[in-house]
Amino acid sequence: MKIAIIGAGLAGLACAGPLKNAGHNIQLFDKARGPGGRMSTRRAQTPAGEAQFDHGAQYFTVRDPAFQQLVDSWARDGVAARWPAAGEDAWVGTPAMNSPIKAMAAGQDIAWATRIDQLEKSSNCWKLLGEKANIDTLFDSVILAIPAEQTADLLSPVDTGFAAVAQESQSDPCWTVMLSFSEKLPTDQNILRNIGAIGWAARNSDKPGRTGLENWVVQASPAWSRDHLEETQEWILPTLIEALSQALGLNLPEPLHATAHRWRYARSDSADRTALFNRENGLGVCGDWLLGPRVENAWLSGTALSQHILDQ
Ligand code: FAD
Repeated sequence: MKIAIIGAGLAGLACAGPLKNAGHNIQLFDKARGPGGRMSTRRAQTPAGEAQFDHGAQYFTVRDPAFQQLVDSWARDGVAARWPAAGEDAWVGTPAMNSPIKAMAAGQDIAWATRIDQLEKSSNCWKLLGEKANIDTLFDSVILAIPAEQTADLLSPVDTGFAAVAQESQSDPCWTVMLSFSEKLPTDQNILRNIGAIGWAARNSDKPGRTGLENWVVQASPAWSRDHLEETQEWILPTLIEALSQALGLNLPEPLHATAHRWRYARSDSADRTALFNRENGLGVCGDWLLGPRVENAWLSGTALSQHILDQ
């Protein structure tokens, strides 16, 4: 089968691997310029060199034995390591959070910077349409591995049943601030949780495999992010820097680099499903939001969908 997968985050890649290994022709499309999805890594130039931030998922945990096997193989390949500061069972990608995603993406055919805006059924096949996407290929099957809200938008005109499942799922937003300093901040606290506006803040440079500047990632709590969703970056940035300063009890030096990023759909809800597949029209759906907002769930969902398609 010719199968299109929209979204090359962990769920899309977890689904792509087994389908490709079984001999199917898989093409992935992702609106981002490179691998990571919500496990992405942001790089920035500062006067003191390049800074690097994990600006989505901060770490992940492992419960499922099959996922544990995969994570162990990532550790052997040097693309993941434990980060005990976040908890006994906490893992991160190394040297950056997107490293395991990069490794999984390496063997796949992925069209980056290609946003899909519409699905069109043409006889028994699917055509993908996007403002900048010139896609001639017709696909037997299309898999959506994107957040629930975006899934609902794409599916509403073509599969009202699956669209309804996605519509019921609502993600929490997350305002994130990334800061680089020329010197190590004088504190032993590497992680802060739930202090005022801050849901999480961490010294990114404390994670294994990171070198270079003193980098911090500050994530506002879901409630605070929702209340200030439409504020400007110019307001968010100093407000969260001040919140970090208060939480650490420090007068922060002028950062070398400071940016704010708004994740509109950061942590998903849970639809209490694993994955969806409509045998009649060939549409499949996977992603963390079917099971809940965890890296492991994205992998479980994508893997379950591939298994389901192969079983059929
Ligand atoms: P994604 O990684 O979002 O992948 C979807 C991909 O689809 C993206 O690459 C996107 O560019 C692409 N896309 C979307 N729409 C389109 C379109 N129309 N056309 C083409 N491409 C499209 N999890 C944890 O386990 N621990 C944590 O501490 C944690 N913290 C988090 C903090 C934040 C701020 C965020 C944002 C997430 C966090 N998560 C955490 C959640 C975790 O990152 C996700 O569960 C997981 O990465 C989801 O993977 P996914 O493949 O389902 O979706």
